[in-house]
Amino acid sequence: RRVTLLAGGVGGAKMAEGFAALADVELTVIGNVADDEAFHGLWVSPDIDTVTYTLAGLINRDQGWGVADEAGRALEVLKTLGEDTWMFLGDRDFGLHIHRTARRARGERPSVIARDVARAFGVEAEIVLPTDDRVQTKVETDAGWIGFQDYFVRQQCAPEVKALRYDGIEAARPTPEALAALAGADLIVIAPSNPLVSIRPILGIPGIAEAVKQAAAPVVAVSPLIAGRVVKGPADRMMAALGHRVDAVGIAEIYAGLAGSLVIDEADAALAGGVRAAGPEPVIRPTLMTDLAGKRRLAGEILALCPEPV
Ligand code: GDP
Ligand code: CA
Repeated sequence: RRVTLLAGGVGGAKMAEGFAALADVELTVIGNVADDEAFHGLWVSPDIDTVTYTLAGLINRDQGWGVADEAGRALEVLKTLGEDTWMFLGDRDFGLHIHRTARRARGERPSVIARDVARAFGVEAEIVLPTDDRVQTKVETDAGWIGFQDYFVRQQCAPEVKALRYDGIEAARPTPEALAALAGADLIVIAPSNPLVSIRPILGIPGIAEAVKQAAAPVVAVSPLIAGRVVKGPADRMMAALGHRVDAVGIAEIYAGLAGSLVIDEADAALAGGVRAAGPEPVIRPTLMTDLAGKRRLAGEILALCPEPV
């Protein structure tokens, strides 16, 4: 069956790995490009690369991002030469950024580059960009508006988030591949990714949320919050700072009108009524994915919610 997954970085990649491990699934991942930024003249696309490296089996399992067996010699040289090197980019990883940047400079579509890279690394799933245009998340802090990687990596999510914006999103056009993957899906899944900085910049591209709503397939979201807390990352603090309820009900409110069901953790069973009142039908399952078996189990349980094609 054709599963189309909306995914950010680490949380999205875990869910993607689960679906990729199911024999009867043709997986398409629509990733997030709003974390993209230029470093040392190279275009870096952290969320797309996390999904690609994960599905290719190249990921650093301890970190959840970056390539395994990586070294930082290129970065050392850049540091010696006086460049700012707070964004860790490994030597192997640099190869991909050089390739991507060279092809973009030749005018190739970013989504074609992402697809070719995934294939070259042996990824069987389709990796699709939601747009070929530039969309970049900016974070408002007490010190003013800063880039997402500055907030996330350099400042390690320490500043309080006062507001978010997605530069370029209003003018961005969806890719035909993303629209086709939504229209042709048997099941659409919103991964347990950060709803505000991973999923919203996908859904906010004009035409994407509409395509999700118009799709014939059921739409199932998975809560990234378990017992009111993230597994990792700033989503819970970000949601609190921006006035959202910080639990599965808050996630249900964000995806209301879009997701027909929301998978919430067993620890949140008591919130089922609140989730239903917000809109989505609650589905209670263990949602912590610690190993491949756990990822595969959760993916299988989500697939089981979708009726078999006749
Ligand atoms: P990022 O782009 O690397 O920050 O990753 P995502 O946005 O894709 O995912 C981040 C979110 O994934 C965080 O809010 C985590 O709480 C959530 N997450 C990570 N692992 C798991 C898991 O095993 N289960 C669930 N339910 N959520 C998870
Ligand atoms: Ca991200």
